[in-house]
Formats: sequence, structure tokens, C-alpha cells
Amino acid sequence: MTTIIILIGTELLSGATLDTNSIYMAKELNKVGIKITYKLTVGDKIEDIIEALKFAKDRAQLIILSGGLGPTDDDLTKKALSKFLGRKLIVDAEELEEAKNKFKKLDLEFLDKNLKEIEKPKGAYSIKNDVGIAPAFYVDDIAVFPGVPSELKNMFPKFLDYYIKQSGKEIDPIYIKDFLINGIPESIIEEKVKEFFTYDGIEYEFLLKNNGVLLRLQTTEKNKKIVEKIREKIYNRLGNHIISEDDENILEKLYNLMEKENMTLSVVESCTGGLLSSKIVSIEGISKYYKEGIVTYSNSSKLLRAGVKEESLTRYSAVSSEVAKEMLSNIDTDLGIAITGYASLSAGLDEDMVGVVYIATKVGDKLNCERYKFLGDRDTIREKAVYQSLFNLCRKMEEVFRSEHRRED
Ligand code: ATP
Repeated sequence: MTTIIILIGTELLSGATLDTNSIYMAKELNKVGIKITYKLTVGDKIEDIIEALKFAKDRAQLIILSGGLGPTDDDLTKKALSKFLGRKLIVDAEELEEAKNKFKKLDLEFLDKNLKEIEKPKGAYSIKNDVGIAPAFYVDDIAVFPGVPSELKNMFPKFLDYYIKQSGKEIDPIYIKDFLINGIPESIIEEKVKEFFTYDGIEYEFLLKNNGVLLRLQTTEKNKKIVEKIREKIYNRLGNHIISEDDENILEKLYNLMEKENMTLSVVESCTGGLLSSKIVSIEGISKYYKEGIVTYSNSSKLLRAGVKEESLTRYSAVSSEVAKEMLSNIDTDLGIAITGYASLSAGLDEDMVGVVYIATKVGDKLNCERYKFLGDRDTIREKAVYQSLFNLCRKMEEVFRSEHRRED
């Protein structure tokens, strides 16, 4: 089953509007096992819309259009489609009545140009629009929707229902398995796991996520058991570099670990200036486990508030493993994170040092520190440091708990 989506709107090409419709449609289509092979975006120009339709017709069993169904002169989708299919545009009397009633309720005058909104190619099946004027329709394996996201969302599920029923197709929903991996570059991950991807019908891809790599396996529900087998092999190969699976994000993971072990957390930040704390407090229910976040931006604050020794600052500098670890001296929780680094160039700093960040973690009495060199601008470096610190803490917690549980056994 091949499907092509055509998005229509000059504003999508100019960057004035972000295309969210195709993301929504892709998710809905995946649920019923329909995969998109191409996504095309064209401006409000009849010839371009026809070109896109020609391209799609040769390659897809189902074509979905979104945008350009409105009453204004730049809404040209129906005109293009009518030309392409050789079908006249007609107005259904019942739909006209319905549209006029909607205008009346809104205290608006129904103008001649509004007729355009309810026109459809002769023979098309209409889908009722409960939240706007222009109905969606389906004709000759082409489904057409307005660009307004709320209207699309109102009609798309109804269309899918209709489409599946009338096509008599058996549904085999798309099945996606995600692994979020940290600490190894994607090229190495691929080398380590690619031998497991020999099954027909299972695709894999790598996506860069919040300072981690997302390894995605995409197939259909009928291959779920094979994916489970591959999953085990991936765990054996990548070990604790796998941070989380599917939709679980790193913050949820941290929360689940703290809840499981009933552990409290404090953080001491320098270059991230409270960003880590802010991410942590975005977790609902975190007050039970999160005690405090201190921003010790200056050296004097590191001395006064964090308990860093003056000697360490002069001997090793504020951005060092020694200082990062000492920043955790005053905290009295089970868990701790300290971050100190150079997020951008400042007077007297060697350019090579920009992006150097030390992240210390504490799990019980186990203190650890790692050095990183992050690339990017000031905000990117700060963001990367925050996610890396969360990954590190989760990984250390798992290591410690694993060895403790092993000892208990
Ligand atoms: P209407 O019949 O209500 O006028 P329409 O089909 O003419 O709808 P457009 O004029 O193309 O729709 O777009 C209406 C609104 O929807 C605009 O604000 C536009 O930016 C937004 N929109 C269009 N396409 C998309 C898309 N792919 N993703 C998100 N928003 C979109």
C-alpha cells in the first residue's frame, strides 16, 4: 500500500507556516498500517499542483492532499484537481444548505465566493466538516482536506474509517520500536547492530535526539515477535548505553528510578545556570524526590555555597573534575549532579576549551566525574550538558542498583 501526501500552500514553502498536518496524518496512517512513500509540498499554483498530482498518480495507490480549499483566489486545489481528473466541479444542494446555515449561525453573509468552499469534483464522496465550512472529499483514490489543522483532525479519522471499509483491506498497523542510546556515536552503533537487521520488512534508522541517538525499528504488528528477538540481541550488544525505550524520555526514566529506589536528589549547577533544575521540576510529582538545585555560577559561590575548596579552584580551575566532584560536598541527598564547564568564549579562554564540561554524579556514596567536549553555540552546549548529566545519573543508578541487587541475591 503506497501513499503520497501533497501539501499545498505557498506559506509552507516560504517558511511562514510549519507543516504539522503531515505529521498528524502520518501517525494516523501508521496506526492502520498505511505507509507514506513521499511527501511533496507545492505552492498555490495550478500547474505545480497538477505536476505533483502526476508524480503521485504514477507511484501511489492513495494520494492525500491538504490545503487550498478556502474561498479566496489563492485557494486553487479544487481547480487543479478538476483539470487533472477531467471532472467538473459541482455543488451539492444539501451541502450548500448546510453551509448557508453555518454562516447564518455565525451571523455572516454567504458570498458567491463561499460557493468555492463546498464545490467538489463530480462523483466525489464528501466527509462532513463539523468545525469549519469546506468538507473534505474522496475521489479516484485521492482524498482532499482543508489546510486548517483542526478541520483536518475532525475529518481525517472519518475518512480513514470509510477508506478502510470500502477497500476491504486487512489492517496490519505499523509497529515502531525505539531505543534511545547515549555514549556511542551512531556510526559505531550501526557497526555493532547492523547484522541483526537482515529480516525483510523491518527497516531501521538513526535519528539524533536530545544528546542521544534514537535507533528506530519500523515494521508492522505481524513482525512484533521478530522485533522482540532483535531487541534482546541489541541489549546484549549495547548494554547500558541504552537509556530508554519507546516514548519513555530521560526525565520519566529518572523519576521511575527514584521512585523505585525511593531516593532523593539535589543538583549544583554552574554553566547550565538552573537549566537542569528547571527540567527536573517539569516532572509531575517530583517534589517527593527533588530537594534542591543550587546555581553556583561564580567562584565565590562555589566556595561559599557548594563547599568547593579554594585550593582546588586555584590548582585545578573551576572547570575541572576535582571541582565538579567537590561541588557535591554539601548536598545531603542520596543522589546528586554537578555541572561545571565553558559554554562559550570568554576573555582569556583558549578557543579549544569552549564546550568542555565536567559532569559529576553521586549515587549513594559513589562519586563519579566525566569530561565532555560538546559542540554548538552557548545554548546548545548547556542543553547537551543537561541531558548528558541526566543520562549519566540514570546509567550510574542502574549500575549501582544492579550490583547491589546481585549482592543481595
Ligand atoms: P479553509 O477552507 O479553512 O480556508 P484551506 O484549505 O484553504 O482552509 P489553507 O488556506 O491552505 O487552508 O490554510 C488554512 C490555515 O491552515 C492557514 O493558517 C495555514 O497556514 C494552515 N495550514 C495549511 N497547511 C498546513 C499544514 N500542512 N500544517 C499546518 N498548518 C497548515
